[in-house]
Amino acid sequence: MKALFATVLLLLALPAPAEILALRAGAVIDPSRGTVDRDQTILVENGVISAIGAELAVPAGARVLDLTHEWVLPGLMDAHTHLTLTEVTGDAPFESFYIKESTSYRAMRGLHNAQALLAAGFTTVRDIGNSGEYAMQDVRRAIEHGWFAGPTIIDAGKIITPFGGQSHEIPPEQGSFWKYEYLDADSVAEIRKAVRTNIYYGAGVIKLVLDNSAYHYSLEEVRAAVEEAHRAGVPVAVHVYGGEAADTAIEAGVDSIEHGFFLTDAQLKKIHDKGIFLVSTDFPRALLDVIGTSGGIFPPPEVLAPKIIDRLTRAHRLGVRIVYGSDIVMERAGQTRADLMFDYLAVWKQAGLTPMETLRGMTSEAAQLLRVDATRGRLARGLAADLIAVPADPLTDIEALRRVDFVMKNGHIVRQGARIAP
Ligand SMILES: [Zn+2]
Repeated sequence: MKALFATVLLLLALPAPAEILALRAGAVIDPSRGTVDRDQTILVENGVISAIGAELAVPAGARVLDLTHEWVLPGLMDAHTHLTLTEVTGDAPFESFYIKESTSYRAMRGLHNAQALLAAGFTTVRDIGNSGEYAMQDVRRAIEHGWFAGPTIIDAGKIITPFGGQSHEIPPEQGSFWKYEYLDADSVAEIRKAVRTNIYYGAGVIKLVLDNSAYHYSLEEVRAAVEEAHRAGVPVAVHVYGGEAADTAIEAGVDSIEHGFFLTDAQLKKIHDKGIFLVSTDFPRALLDVIGTSGGIFPPPEVLAPKIIDRLTRAHRLGVRIVYGSDIVMERAGQTRADLMFDYLAVWKQAGLTPMETLRGMTSEAAQLLRVDATRGRLARGLAADLIAVPADPLTDIEALRRVDFVMKNGHIVRQGARIAP
């Protein structure tokens, strides 16, 4: 408890970091190369890493931060969040969360969660839809304006689905009220319009749902989405569990498969060969027990939990590019979303991923999928100073990530534990 009070969290606003910062790091982990370098100095100027190395001279007047007892690594990334969404669990209908909450209220929740993630070391997130009338766009813009500290956000706008959103058995007299949360698109032309609508409102990724209904998108339809999105420089992520819909997504050349719980080895092999990323959203059993079937969107926990580990094990063995994505949409008393996100580390360990592979899926691989790798995801000269430090070696025990005691975002210190002087 004492350590908690000694940790300084600076999350309200971000003054411009005019000074030069010199970070003395005991060890720097580079997941992209799989290396560890001892006794490094990292110079940070104007939010960017201006130099990194072992024998660097510290410029006169620089503020020196002592991280010599720490392991320093790039800021973490989560490629599948829904920060404005809190699902109503139990027997409540899936739609409950968006029927009872305004977009502005959800934007505030989104900011609250975004700051909790940043404080825990997640410096970039991809928010993959479900934010009412584009709530996450405004959270992103408010952070980009510097009104609030927060992670870099790439957001999807509204999720594009065949008629019905992710709802089932809504009586006709209710109308298609899911339009406040989803975009129905039921032809090539409607898909192109839906993609353009999201991009108009600032989407940095397009999300399609492929197998949440008895009717699935055709190859022609998914190809249209990919073509339209790629023309605007935006990747396509698809919600799909497996089966024919997964074949369609793979054939159409989407950028990432989200979930993919029931993918076969043959499908994983194709995903590998085409360089498609798997954002595996590997729910731990304890979380699945809370979520239940999510109104029919998920199979029961006892079916899903072993499938998740089996599929991740096979994807890893086949060399698929795996990117970390949590997909957390619920609360647990006394814990932040970030606390829950670290529960996924045990699943990755069980599936055979090494700590270095896990870190890669949370940093450099994620940066490539999110198309931010020119500016983030590694610690190198010219890249944004997004970095974290932990007090124990995460390559020995990946759970060390839970104990992050230093977070820097674009050169701003947002968390500084008592171990770090001054
Ligand atoms: Zn999701």
